[in-house]
Amino acid sequence: HAKEQGKNNAQFYSTQLSTDSLERLALESSMRKALENREFRLYYQSKQDMLTGRVTGMEALLRWQHPDLGLIAPMQFIPLAEENGLIVPIGRWVFNTACRQNVEWQMQGFPPLSMAVNLSARQFLDEHLLGDIKTTLEETGMAPELLELEITESMMMLDMPRTVRILKDLKRMGVRIAIDDFGTGYSSLSKLKDFPLDTIKIDGSFIQDLVNSAEDRSLTEAIIELGKSLGLTVVAEGVESIEQADYLRVHSCDQFQGFYINMPMPATEFEMSMRDQFRRFEDSNPSE
Ligand code: C2E
Ligand code: MG
Ligand code: MG
Ligand code: MG
Repeated sequence: HAKEQGKNNAQFYSTQLSTDSLERLALESSMRKALENREFRLYYQSKQDMLTGRVTGMEALLRWQHPDLGLIAPMQFIPLAEENGLIVPIGRWVFNTACRQNVEWQMQGFPPLSMAVNLSARQFLDEHLLGDIKTTLEETGMAPELLELEITESMMMLDMPRTVRILKDLKRMGVRIAIDDFGTGYSSLSKLKDFPLDTIKIDGSFIQDLVNSAEDRSLTEAIIELGKSLGLTVVAEGVESIEQADYLRVHSCDQFQGFYINMPMPATEFEMSMRDQFRRFEDSNPSE
């Protein structure tokens, strides 16, 4: 079962790519064709409210369904796409697909659910980012307030004044901003208040050893407190067990995400699981 396999995420993908330079070259050229060949896929993983268990939204996670190599994990090709710049058009596709999917779920009658999209450094610093996002929001009819952009702590620190400017522009459009993998990027805590953020996502590495490591417990508690003191929503990622979930609930974490709830999955399966969850939720809360 997924929950027991969580330790080694790689085994869910067909391929563990080598770092051989010839293979990289071949991968790069097939990556150039992958967009027009429609080989990219978005998987979705839900985010839940810690207290009520209600699904609050989902995160879109990119995969590459390679014709020969099978399903490739983002960490296996995004760094390369960063280097060769293909991450910009790929990211545009991700963004567009995620927004269209969210609008479709809204039209099917699901409650307003947020859609989180990951941005890479190169995308974030691309001069067309704001224009692209604005156009996509208009073309898809996606509600800006349901869109949450996830940027990592280390990306934010590359050029702080510029980051603040971009984030303020994004906020003006009405989209939400999450800081991903928090705790891994050595950001100065005092600077955090200068960024217009909505959400902090505690990195899964802290959650993993929560039960056994007193150090990870105090770091997690410190991040939750920091987030709360800044008025942010605090999300824990990589939650795999009931013990971790209970601990986070007791310590006032707002939302969580992880194999304990579900695996990232294709849209059709995600939709079925949402139907299931909302039916169950309505059954146990008849007044809603
Ligand atoms: P992330 O944004 O921090 O996403 C969380 C990762 O943890 C995902 O890996 C997810 O499948 C995995 N995960 C979820 N729950 C659990 C759990 O309980 N245990 C464990 N061990 N892992 C869990 P994935 O999908 O392989 O993505 C890896 C990273 O690739 C993402 O980390 C994100 O940084 C990047 N990424 C994914 N999609 C995109 C995209 O569309 N654009 C960009 N630029 N980056 C993306
Ligand atoms: Mg993320
Ligand atoms: Mg993360
Ligand atoms: Mg991560």
